Amino acid sequence: MAVTEPAPAAPPAAYEGILRRQTMRESAARTYARSLPIVPVRARGLTIEGADGRRYLDCLSGAGTLALGHNHPVVLEAIKKVLDSGAPLHVLDLATPVKDAFTTELFATLPREFADDARIQFCGPAGTDAVEAAFKLVRAATGRSGLLAFTGAYHGMTSGALAASGGAEDVTVTRLPFPQDYRCPFGIGGERGARIAARWTETVLDDPKSGTPTPAGMILEPVQGEGGVNPAPDGWLRRMREITASRSIPLIADEVQTGVGRTGAFWAVEHSAVVPDVMVLSKAIGGSLPLAVIVYRSELDTWQPGAHAGTFRGNQLAMAAGTATLAHVRENRLAERAGTLGAWMLARLRALAADHPCIGDVRGRGLMIGVELVDPEAAPVDGASEAPPDPVLAVAVQQECLRRGLIVELGGRHSTVVRLLPPLTLTDEQAEAVIDRLADAMAAAERSPHRRTATGSIR
Ligand code: PMP
Repeated sequence: MAVTEPAPAAPPAAYEGILRRQTMRESAARTYARSLPIVPVRARGLTIEGADGRRYLDCLSGAGTLALGHNHPVVLEAIKKVLDSGAPLHVLDLATPVKDAFTTELFATLPREFADDARIQFCGPAGTDAVEAAFKLVRAATGRSGLLAFTGAYHGMTSGALAASGGAEDVTVTRLPFPQDYRCPFGIGGERGARIAARWTETVLDDPKSGTPTPAGMILEPVQGEGGVNPAPDGWLRRMREITASRSIPLIADEVQTGVGRTGAFWAVEHSAVVPDVMVLSKAIGGSLPLAVIVYRSELDTWQPGAHAGTFRGNQLAMAAGTATLAHVRENRLAERAGTLGAWMLARLRALAADHPCIGDVRGRGLMIGVELVDPEAAPVDGASEAPPDPVLAVAVQQECLRRGLIVELGGRHSTVVRLLPPLTLTDEQAEAVIDRLADAMAAAERSPHRRTATGSIR
């Protein structure tokens, strides 16, 4: 059945049962399932259809995975081709034509200077596996152990990645301030704030009493995603490159979420013309199926055979889907499209902020957009110029969005940043519809008589 025909709605008892059984049987750690209690049965492009027969505009896109949206024809075709060819689906890390084509296409998209002298390691299937591999690689290559990471970072859920994300104590990770205009840790923002943040990094590295021995590497996201959509200023990123290069510290760019056109460049490091030593890639490179790699300067390739192994490193379907996705984004200049459409959406959202004092900040790059929600009536904390975050309102906005058929994620330090990660294939009309629904949802959440402050009083 073509996805344009509405799916017959399942009887409410059927999908309610699915949701109830999920609640009973799945871990308390389940995440999206809590805030988005829907049962997707079909999907195409931006649209997901629920078992309830309702359609939703999906601006979560598998946490930024679906560069081409759901079930793009070129992706489906690529998967079918492998299935029909009789090719083996599981091959560990053996060479195959499918893998060869993927590597060729991936290298063709990478900055020339980097790709010309790069090696690739296929990792376990998740982004976090590739982050761990990157840490292991730079530790092996430098003989050092510590890592530099930034406030607000998110790199995954395995122990090393989690430590680098600030989610666990780990003495080997030194946390440095990420430059941000809104809620700048130095209360300044802008270029000056970024300069001070860079200066801090330099001081930590050069002060023999900083308590931070020369680390094995520095990891950063060119635009922090889960941390609340914080784009790194280009000048600051270049400074990080200079600081690390002059001290022989490998720079690891985590492009798991920013890659494949999302931010308006094929790879987000291209905005600043920074060439990292290691790139961590996952999400969109698998065209909706699990795939994760690190690509790095050949000089770092001091690993012994088997130094980083894993059973599921040869997902042929993901490689085929990924090749098709990378080629489609490249051939159709979808990164540029994400840049222009994203700028238009940001402008629309900033205009909306004028009528909604609960919008504290609108920021982003390309189609990686964040709207930070605040309580404009509450007093700023400790002399900050920004109003405090409003997590209760954020949840209400997310729910009102869902009621209006719009799926959005919440992120940021206090889960108060509404995140938009639509596919790069988003049309102008769809972008309008997304903004309209979000604006409506925001107005409804603001009006809600049940809106409560974090302390429990009704506003
Ligand atoms: N790095 C970044 C920048 C991410 O956004 C994520 C996931 N959101 C990860 C790493 C971890 O990826 P995964 O969830 O596939 O382990």
